[in-house]
Amino acid sequence: MVNGFQVHDRFAAGAQYIGGRLRPGTSGREQRVVNPATGAEVFSYELAGTADVDAAVAAARDAFPGWAAATPGERSDVLHRFAGVLAERAEEFAYAESLQCGKPIKLSREFDVPGTVDNASFFAGAARHLQGQSAGEYSGDHTSYVRREPIGVVGSIAPWNYPLQMAAWKILPAVAAGNTIVLKPAEITPLTSLMFAQAATEAGFPDGVINIVNGLGQVAGEHLVGHPDVVMTSFTGSTAVGRRVAEIATATVKRLHLELGGKAPFLVFDDADLDAAVQGAVAGALINTGQDCTAATRAYVQRPLYDAFVQGVAELMSTVRLGDPFDESTDVGPLISHAQRDRVAAFVDRARDGARVVTGGEVPAGDGAYYRPTLIADAAQDSEIVQSEIFGPVLVVLPFDSDDEGITLANDTPYGLAASAWTRDVYRANRATREIKAGCVWVNDHIPIISEMPHGGYKASGFGKDMSSYSFEEYTQVKHVMYDNTAVARKDWHRTIFGDR
Ligand code: NAD
Repeated sequence: MVNGFQVHDRFAAGAQYIGGRLRPGTSGREQRVVNPATGAEVFSYELAGTADVDAAVAAARDAFPGWAAATPGERSDVLHRFAGVLAERAEEFAYAESLQCGKPIKLSREFDVPGTVDNASFFAGAARHLQGQSAGEYSGDHTSYVRREPIGVVGSIAPWNYPLQMAAWKILPAVAAGNTIVLKPAEITPLTSLMFAQAATEAGFPDGVINIVNGLGQVAGEHLVGHPDVVMTSFTGSTAVGRRVAEIATATVKRLHLELGGKAPFLVFDDADLDAAVQGAVAGALINTGQDCTAATRAYVQRPLYDAFVQGVAELMSTVRLGDPFDESTDVGPLISHAQRDRVAAFVDRARDGARVVTGGEVPAGDGAYYRPTLIADAAQDSEIVQSEIFGPVLVVLPFDSDDEGITLANDTPYGLAASAWTRDVYRANRATREIKAGCVWVNDHIPIISEMPHGGYKASGFGKDMSSYSFEEYTQVKHVMYDNTAVARKDWHRTIFGDR
């Protein structure tokens, strides 16, 4: 409890947010929300069924004409007020996020919540700069300009790893551009998306602009993606589910934005600052207990630095403090669930045949879904532990010889979400940023994101951008408007249809 915040009281009316108020789901099926640090139930609620999705889409459809007609300045004002409400409630959001995800409270307080507030501030400003290209008289006889228009009701689906930030990334650009939205969070982490929607209503968003349905992927998620009144699907989650979502969205000809899995390479050249690379690798691999789509997962280290890097990472990893997420000294919390912990442990166990577990590789004693930070060396490039997304606190390290080989290995998975290059040589850095196929390449750092810059994948990591003004391209449609300037009934080009008559 924080300042009187009690989950049961807060969501006594239900865990669906439709048309500006909470209501219960109607699926007849209960969902438990569990604190992964203890295994104890935090809250249980009735999941959304298809009728709840229909009600949420209807609320969003009814709200669309009014919200789309609001001026950019009016939308910006509401977003500014919203950023203020989120900032006032920062501690409550941090508490709920840590409770449902097991995130260390210092991560929720210093990353998830301020990032969300900053995103809201960014889109409050960006809402006033939603322009088409300037006009031109390209044919000589016409004036053309481009209108950038909202598209309608957006259906979004989010994962459990950053529930609050994912709600922000999906909702803010969509509503800043004049759309209305129905978001389906992951059913095991419903709390902060609901709080986000409540705060939006308090800040002055009209009822129905932002709706939340908490339901199962195969029920509420698929119904939302296939819904005829939803014009766009924006999905963040695994590549496997993304494929299914794409099939359904394609069948109903929807605009599609997919933010999928990752397997980020961490490329250390032999002139790198070793100390910086070691610290960057441990932080980049363990943030959010490794449940981060951009986490450093594959370190490729040029041969002269390889042994020292392995030793440095193993030493630093073994000092990281696992513990109670609400203890401010805890560095790494549990995984999201016992099922996810067992999945990660199974990946590591399968890797033992052919690779070396340098540190970690264990489930500590106790009730929580914890797993020790793990470093694996000497794995084969084509092995599962190098190629598949594990989504846990596991870093694999491999050596390379030439720069060509390093870059080839970095590109050698189906994914392309993020990557980093560690070097003091500007030419090497420049080459890596140019040749690594990923939506983000950091140089001498790994993880930071910023509201002004786009986030999104290449290859099997999907397409489309979250955050930044680039996200407006996802959530707007572009219309060419063309005016005749001649005022002549018989236009010159009519010759091609009427001949000389
Ligand atoms: P997931 O794909 O299992 O689930 C994501 C969401 O999809 C959930 O809300 C789930 O209920 C829903 N869903 C499941 N089946 C569905 C279906 N058939 N139809 C419609 N919706 C369905 O992913 P997860 O386990 O919640 O999250 C982890 C994954 O998310 C990882 O692969 C990670 O890389 C990815 N991720 C990507 C980004 C990014 O920006 N690219 C960000 C965060 C997480």
